[in-house]
Amino acid sequence: MKASAFDYARATSVEHALGLLVSHGERAKVLSGGQSLLPAMNMRLIVPELLVDISGLAELRGIAVKAGVLTIGALTRHVDLLRSPEVAEHAPLLRDAVAHVAHPAIRNRGTIGGSLAHADPASELPACMLTLGATIVIRGPDGEHRVAAEEFFLGIYETALGPRDLLVAIELPAAPKGSTYFFHEFARRHGDYAIAGLAAQGLVERERFTELRLGYFAVGDRPMMAKAADRLLGVAMTPAVLSEARSALDDELHPLEDQQASSAMRRHLAKVLLARCVSALLCRPDLGTGASM
Ligand SMILES: Cc1cc2nc3c(=O)[nH]c(=O)nc-3n(C[C@H](O)[C@H](O)[C@H](O)COP(=O)(O)OP(=O)(O)OC[C@H]3O[C@@H](n4cnc5c(N)ncnc54)[C@H](O)[C@@H]3O)c2cc1C
Repeated sequence: MKASAFDYARATSVEHALGLLVSHGERAKVLSGGQSLLPAMNMRLIVPELLVDISGLAELRGIAVKAGVLTIGALTRHVDLLRSPEVAEHAPLLRDAVAHVAHPAIRNRGTIGGSLAHADPASELPACMLTLGATIVIRGPDGEHRVAAEEFFLGIYETALGPRDLLVAIELPAAPKGSTYFFHEFARRHGDYAIAGLAAQGLVERERFTELRLGYFAVGDRPMMAKAADRLLGVAMTPAVLSEARSALDDELHPLEDQQASSAMRRHLAKVLLARCVSALLCRPDLGTGASM
């Protein structure tokens, strides 16, 4: 299928793009890398009257570190994140995660802003934003405002962005000194959307977690931070403690069912991921078998 007819405007500045969005409202769609929008238009799942192409706006591209905050422009492509020394140093979890997003051809065009605005619950980057405590910077008709990642993702393909808003940047606190991270996803093939995945970051002192953030994806209608992490803080890790956290996880996850996996399978995989994560971050191979605990 081909997309239905639409008008096209190439924005020359953020203000120009916002002006177009204000005058066309829900009839317009922002175009960044087009890696999600164009397939959806070709399948006629989305039928915009106007595409506002922001891909040429250099002011929305780039990565900078200042006062312990990594600022990533919305148009920064996946491949730029992969190659960035700043991301490798200050947000290594994000670097690992991006390597799992689709394939090189898609990573060469797709952008971080597009991925977050699209808000597919099986996407890697939204969950990383929760784990890393990101702030999403939004510009709209009333100026600029910031939304914590935990308040940004509202459901399947649903975010705090209004139809007249542009996601302009992401702010990430640099990973704390000595922090450690874990990223893993189950997918049919490398580059496919995940069936279940976990992006975690923690701090370990004397073999105990002093901090642990568990950002799950593909196990609900949006990425989620698991409260089960709290049960693992400050305690000597034993199979019993881990088992309790896994049961707690069971209570807070509400995985969806689709042609890839049943809800029960996703729940099971989430628990396996927790065991592997704890095992990897504490360097405790005895805890990582996952499936039987
Ligand atoms: C074969 C294939 C495999 C894929 N596999 C994965 C995968 O494994 N993991 C994964 O996460 N993704 C995957 N994707 C999706 C894709 O990589 C991302 O969703 C994509 O990179 C989004 O970025 P984009 O710049 O292309 O956004 P676009 O397609 O241009 O836009 C996506 C949506 O976000 C809106 N939007 C874009 N930028 C902004 C902005 N700055 N402000 C406000 N709204 C905006 C658009 O209007 C649109 O609704 C895959 C895609 C394909 C085609």
